[in-house]
Amino acid sequence: MMKRIFTLVVLCGVFTIKTPAQNLSEINTVKENDAGNPCISPLEYALIEKRISDNMKALHIDSSSFAGGSRAVTLLQWPLKPSVNLHDCSYYFISAHVDQNTASGAFQDYNCGTIAYDGHGGTDIAIWPYPFVKMDNDLVEVVAAAPGIIIDKHDGEFDKNCVGVGSGLTANYVIVQHADGSTVLYWHMKKNSITTVAIGQPVATGDHIGVVGSSGSSSGPHLHFEIWSGNTAATRVDPFSGTCNLLNASSWWAAQKSYLETAVIKVSVNITDAVFPACPATETPNESTTYQIPFQGPGLSPGYAKFYIFLRNEVSGLIADLSILNPNGSTYLSWTYTSNANTLVGLWAYSKVLPTTDGIYTFRAVYNGDTCSSEFEITHNAAGVVEVNSSYLNIYPNPSNGNFTVETNANQVIEIYNLLGEKFYETEITDPSTTVTLPVKSGVYFCELKDERNYIQRKKIVVE
Ligand SMILES: [Zn+2]
Repeated sequence: MMKRIFTLVVLCGVFTIKTPAQNLSEINTVKENDAGNPCISPLEYALIEKRISDNMKALHIDSSSFAGGSRAVTLLQWPLKPSVNLHDCSYYFISAHVDQNTASGAFQDYNCGTIAYDGHGGTDIAIWPYPFVKMDNDLVEVVAAAPGIIIDKHDGEFDKNCVGVGSGLTANYVIVQHADGSTVLYWHMKKNSITTVAIGQPVATGDHIGVVGSSGSSSGPHLHFEIWSGNTAATRVDPFSGTCNLLNASSWWAAQKSYLETAVIKVSVNITDAVFPACPATETPNESTTYQIPFQGPGLSPGYAKFYIFLRNEVSGLIADLSILNPNGSTYLSWTYTSNANTLVGLWAYSKVLPTTDGIYTFRAVYNGDTCSSEFEITHNAAGVVEVNSSYLNIYPNPSNGNFTVETNANQVIEIYNLLGEKFYETEITDPSTTVTLPVKSGVYFCELKDERNYIQRKKIVVE
């Protein structure tokens, strides 16, 4: 069964292979919230209940008027919405359900599986891939799952936590009470993203609640979505109905999603490997939808790009059919990937030679009957050099007459290439500011530098 249940998948460094052969990523595990670092601590639950009680009194809400806590009158819509700027095929996976096993040290989800952690009270919906890119750019919004009244909210807390931290109310959150007396908690959101609707005022289904973040006791950007049939944690329900849901019989979703949503979340074409730094640094996808021939991506052989697929709920033995389609729809290249484990999410990257005829091509992945594709353009443009991570590599003047100064960290080698990807010059930068004289005529070149971590930086230089 699912072994890597609390893991996020990150890339590690096997991406310097310069052959067209398949390059499979390694999968590392990152510690997620767990029993020792719950999304909401017992102290926090007590504080929330007190605040809700106080707010309800101040708002003159009489809970005895509610129909009673056991009925699922309120049907929930999905509480996340992708921004119009997010063009991926999907953007999330469920990293932990409500723990249905009340025994300490044991856990079970509503489907009798183990996508949960001991004592977890809600549904954790993680955003993926590139969660910090998504968070920084407000790419995944939290929206009201049902109409109701805001009975508590809190904002202003730090939002890039990587481990369960602290005590007290350190999350940015919103709590909404529905007309039947049930209550929903939206937790861990981004600082200053919380709705401006005041406590006591209504929200409608789909209204902005906040942006997915990692505030409070959180190990990465995700929404902790928790439902109570009343206004205390003791009335907790699991919105998913299933054999092992011992809390409530019926689903609270208007349309319950499948236990496993096996699908292609995203495909992309990359100029070089994506960079996945340690939490909470923002990832660098290194994607592009335009490739100018001649092309050489940093760390790749001339003419090659990296083709990435991102899968949710991989099932061991399932085969992904991958293809690059010509502008006329015929196949330029195709290959397959066979899942070798059940995962929550997995990513795989391949070096493939780019087409050289101008046009708009499609990279397509089909997995479990689900299709995801992305277009990219091939053009010929001798002036087109893609710069990468060039902030630590300063060259001036640029344009120059062939004499220029290179500023970077000392004791590193810079390499100069022409637009055909041929290296014709290299020199060691012994001083942080070194003068270089290029033995070339006027033209466009590019300078590459590999730092001590083997990250490549690339700067376009013009000689007049
Ligand atoms: Zn949670």
